[in-house]
Amino acid sequence: MTTFTYDALPGRVVFGPGVASTRLAAEVDALGAERILLIAGVSEQSLAKELCAPFADRIAATFSGVRPHVPVEVAESAREAAAGADLILCVGGGSTTGTAKAVALTTGLPIVAVPTTYAGSEVTPVWGLTQGSRKTTGTDPLVLPRTVVYDPDLTLTLPTALSVVSGLNAMAHCVEAFWAPRRNPVSSAVAADGIRYLASGLSALAVDPEDGAARADLLLGAYLAGSAFAVAGSGLHHKICHVLGGAFDLPHAETHSIVLPYVLAYNAPNAPEASARIASALGHDDPVLGLHELGHKLGVPAGLRELGLRERDTDAVLDDILALAPADNPSPVTPDGLRALLHAAWAGTPPTEGDS
Ligand code: NAD
Repeated sequence: MTTFTYDALPGRVVFGPGVASTRLAAEVDALGAERILLIAGVSEQSLAKELCAPFADRIAATFSGVRPHVPVEVAESAREAAAGADLILCVGGGSTTGTAKAVALTTGLPIVAVPTTYAGSEVTPVWGLTQGSRKTTGTDPLVLPRTVVYDPDLTLTLPTALSVVSGLNAMAHCVEAFWAPRRNPVSSAVAADGIRYLASGLSALAVDPEDGAARADLLLGAYLAGSAFAVAGSGLHHKICHVLGGAFDLPHAETHSIVLPYVLAYNAPNAPEASARIASALGHDDPVLGLHELGHKLGVPAGLRELGLRERDTDAVLDDILALAPADNPSPVTPDGLRALLHAAWAGTPPTEGDS
């Protein structure tokens, strides 16, 4: 008999092609907003202005100084711009949502989020702030957007390479949700469906980046991925990528895309149910090869060595990863096992279940 605890997160979601144009004004009205702080990066300003045209008279201030990973000085400027506002409306990717969350964290203002990438931050209560080169993250229900308006048409302009890494990053949230610390039957069901939509969307994107149905699948998959991650948390895969990325300044999403099949290969022998559900969602007999082949089809580098990492670098971070490895990871995380996993991910040899 399964025993579990599940903290459901509140939030309203409006999803569909064109809804940012047709439904955003009503969502802003529903929250009684009179003085709105609009947050959108420079590249997303014209889109944001267009979407806000029906209620332009209620935009009290605009903040466009969005930067990756929300430097504290950016958060401070955005908070100053929020003086007198009663709602934050953010239009953009994870960096823009992150800026809105930084403002909500200290002001308690509600957020309406209009995402334009597959980051998934808009459905999590997780915030991040960067001081110098040090990123701090935390969880606070205050930063969870009140309403999310998901319009897949807004992601049609996202370049293919960014779409691929953003979509595979979402895939990592789903796969890891099966063994993350707060996993439960609800987060696993959400994650399985997330994998299904992401795999379908990514495969179709490889053929035609302007395929509207593929974009809708990807955005729905990204929403489910963010929801699963928000509830289940992160596990071994995220710890490995966090340590590698921090130590060697590796590109975040590419590192995730390369490492994920190797972590699944490591855990699969001791997580047969997760493995079977991931296989079924991917539509492949072998979930490890299914993930590896999907990455290959999408042009993901074969191994960490292609990101410029040296083989001995993987040994240098072994102890740091071991110190963070979750105690209840399906396969015990041993020095030898982890070393083999990292070397295989470095070389890019096709991963096979139980080979690490
Ligand atoms: P991003 O927001 O930095 O955007 C990447 C680039 O894409 C930017 O140059 C942006 O202008 C451009 N862009 C965005 N949408 C576009 C579109 N539709 N068309 C064309 N260009 C577009 O990147 P991201 O991957 O969305 O977000 C990454 C950030 O989100 C990281 O800081 C990450 O830590 C954070 N994140 C947080 C959570 C959380 O739960 N707190 C979850 C996932 C990601």
